[in-house]
Amino acid sequence: MNYKLFDVIVIGSGIGGLVTATQLAAKGAKVLVLESYLIPGGSAGYFQHQGYTFDVGASMIFGLGKKGTTNLLTRALESVNVSLESIADPVQIHYHLPNNLDIKVDQNYEKFLQNLTSYFPHEKKGIRHFYDECQKVFNYLNSFELLSLEEPGYLLRVFLQHPLACLGLAKYLPLNVGDLAKRYIQDPLLLKFIDIECYCWSVVPAAMTPMINAGMVFSDRHYGGVNYPKGGVGKIAQKLVEGLEKTGGKIQYQAKVTKILTEQGQAVGVQLANGKVYHGKRIVSNATRWDTFEKLLPSEKIPTNEKNWQQKYQKSPSFLSLHLGVKASVLQAATECHHILLEDWQKMELAEGTIFVSIPTLLDPDLAPKGYHIIHAFTPHWIADWQGLTPSEYENKKEQAAGRIIERLEKIFPGLDAGLDYLEVGTPLTNRRFLGRIDGTYGPIPRRKLWGLLGMPFNRTAIPGLYCVGDSTFPGQGLNAVAFSGFACAHRIAVDLGL
Ligand SMILES: Cc1cc2nc3c(=O)[nH]c(=O)nc-3n(C[C@H](O)[C@H](O)[C@H](O)COP(=O)(O)OP(=O)(O)OC[C@H]3O[C@@H](n4cnc5c(N)ncnc54)[C@H](O)[C@@H]3O)c2cc1C
Repeated sequence: MNYKLFDVIVIGSGIGGLVTATQLAAKGAKVLVLESYLIPGGSAGYFQHQGYTFDVGASMIFGLGKKGTTNLLTRALESVNVSLESIADPVQIHYHLPNNLDIKVDQNYEKFLQNLTSYFPHEKKGIRHFYDECQKVFNYLNSFELLSLEEPGYLLRVFLQHPLACLGLAKYLPLNVGDLAKRYIQDPLLLKFIDIECYCWSVVPAAMTPMINAGMVFSDRHYGGVNYPKGGVGKIAQKLVEGLEKTGGKIQYQAKVTKILTEQGQAVGVQLANGKVYHGKRIVSNATRWDTFEKLLPSEKIPTNEKNWQQKYQKSPSFLSLHLGVKASVLQAATECHHILLEDWQKMELAEGTIFVSIPTLLDPDLAPKGYHIIHAFTPHWIADWQGLTPSEYENKKEQAAGRIIERLEKIFPGLDAGLDYLEVGTPLTNRRFLGRIDGTYGPIPRRKLWGLLGMPFNRTAIPGLYCVGDSTFPGQGLNAVAFSGFACAHRIAVDLGL
């Protein structure tokens, strides 16, 4: 390929960027993806060491289901004629919570409700009403094709075909989970459980978690299910790249964009760190909004609506990650793949409060040497706490933090410390460096209670020709959510380019 001018240039090969790129390439657009790192995937990437294949971030994967319209990862792969083997996870999460709450979220909806109700029998009706209402939101979403809400033709078509679903969904758009949970549930402990149900993917409590996102997560786990890609999460991006190239698109690695070029206020191209310039009719940034508007464009060009957005949303913390290789004997039979550990409700949102655990080798043993498992344990941490340290202070801090996490994990995995074979600690600095995300942030979170999802921007920006995609656009974080953003972005651009 030797195009002087691309139809679309995508900055970054996270899942949001790759879904945009593959959707457009499948429609015949000349697409170039520029990725600063060595491999695709961003927060859905991987690294390999001593026979282990570690997921850098995401591992609880929605959107790989086989039915409905919300299985956006499956659909994105199919659009470019590639597929991925995945393994169904029978339990989405095993919570180990204060007040001896030991709750498993079974793939089977009724089993989950029974499990939760056994701890809160007096809230039997409220539990069902609350989760049934989440299912209602999901069923609306799952009834039509999810594309750009910025495209009037699509909105009209969907409205005419599914008027009830559209009106139903509109009602939930400005709502947060807390608003609804309090309608049905009185027990403060059960409301705390709903808080952590939200926090474990939105990193904010129920009062600030949009109902639309909760409708997806709380219901799809019982519908399409949580499915782990055979070979590791990194396979999703690798397969999308394979599909991109099959459909004529191009990707370059170690291609760090340092500037978005504008002419008369319009985005027309990009410049790389090595000085190379590429021109495109449309430019898409898969970097976070902060990276896009504060680093890739001159600071005096930050549009007013971006400044307003920053008044409403702030960067969530990053994570401290322990990538562990452990002897298989550490795990008891029938251990679940995903766990959440919290000993004190007051600490849920603090650094090192909630610990997230993923053991992908329980689903795909080939990711570790025979007789060993991978445990990825991560917990929120702020970058500020890791800056300004000497190399030895930094190493020391990592070692101490890892020691504290392992000690806490010993409660659910006795013998963990003794069974350690490999340990790699990633800090917010690691995330900033390797994931290319400002402050290593997981993504935007509301500064205060907002109107559900109404404040999240769509893909077009105030700069003509420049679009954003990924977790700082509607509908937010998570692989299936950024895939949604990718479908929407590609759809809007395809209409704009007349494809
Ligand atoms: C520890 C952790 C655990 C998680 N767990 C889950 C989970 O279980 N399930 C789930 O669904 N989600 C999970 N997530 C969230 C999910 O991984 C993200 O929301 C999602 O991957 C973000 O995708 P994205 O498309 O927005 O971009 P990113 O993944 O951020 O990718 C952006 C890409 O752009 C590149 N880039 C940035 N700037 C430039 C530039 N200037 N030039 C060139 N390239 C550039 C980056 O290198 C990167 O590859 C987790 C995240 C983390 C960190």
